[in-house]
Amino acid sequence: MAESSFEQVSTPWLTPFYQQLQQTYQQGRFAHGLLFTGSAGIGKYKLAQQLAQYLLCTNKQHDDACFECHSCKLFSVHNHLDYHFLVAEKNKSIGIDQVRLLTEKLNERPQLGNNKVVLIKGAEQLTEAAANALLKTLEEPQGDSYLILLARTHHQLMPTLLSRLQQTHLHSPDDQTLINWLYELGYQVSDLGVLRWFQNSPLALLNHLKALQQDASLDTRRQCVEGVFNMLYQPQQLFSFSRLLANDAEQNLLLLFHLLHDIHKLKLNTEQLNQDAIYYFALPQLQLWQAQLSFKSLRVLSQEILKTRSLLTEHNALKKELLISALLIKIKNEFKETHYVS
Ligand SMILES: [Zn+2]
Repeated sequence: MAESSFEQVSTPWLTPFYQQLQQTYQQGRFAHGLLFTGSAGIGKYKLAQQLAQYLLCTNKQHDDACFECHSCKLFSVHNHLDYHFLVAEKNKSIGIDQVRLLTEKLNERPQLGNNKVVLIKGAEQLTEAAANALLKTLEEPQGDSYLILLARTHHQLMPTLLSRLQQTHLHSPDDQTLINWLYELGYQVSDLGVLRWFQNSPLALLNHLKALQQDASLDTRRQCVEGVFNMLYQPQQLFSFSRLLANDAEQNLLLLFHLLHDIHKLKLNTEQLNQDAIYYFALPQLQLWQAQLSFKSLRVLSQEILKTRSLLTEHNALKKELLISALLIKIKNEFKETHYVS
């Protein structure tokens, strides 16, 4: 997920904690090593950046950075000499050499203001040697340097490193807060199932809704409708559909999940669907299907998709296809006898 594209988005569920951090700083009780944990898309990175800008700002306001001083301006164009950012590349660890480069910077005097900040995203990727190098920095903290680590959970971090960090787990906002927040950004979400899919992770949800709006997934949605259609009337097609879904299963199962949701909406809403519905383009087909699926079936199948999705993470490609095939058979079986004439 390109979290940098969320720079302009407000994250009100994190505001109380951000303010608390500033108070701690103002009271001179700020820790040199911080760890923020929480699921992907909760806003860890955004919070850390806000905090870094605040720490570096040379004209701090009572509840935020000033956004006007030289330091703030350099920070906003990603060109601050006292701010150092390290992120793990996909599926790679963060090694000791990368960490050493940073810790050397922490030992230098700040170039601009009074503080220096190092931010490490994906701290679970730190190798043991790299974590030890960080530990050394934290054991002899320089008065003006701050280290912020981000990770989904603390479980993969070395206990010795953890013991030197002040850890805060960031929680997802509740349903209503999240729905209101999305509404203000122009997205109407009525389905709690979609919130659960993303574990109420706001930025992950927003990313998904944006992508849907931009029609990035229209081809895949068409393939979903086609795939369901084919497997209903030509059973042997089920396996090619499952192969298709297994390729980027996470995203494709979500689109299948949406398909059931739109059928559900149609069923509730006397066969009407808003034009901004995700599967509006397939309205005539969905009108036929809603008559063939009971409310109970739709509920059960939504649960089945969620269940399959949670199983997928642990399996290889072949096993994924089998799991998805099993799911598709369940979906197919929930459709009532059709009077469709080919
Ligand atoms: Zn400033």
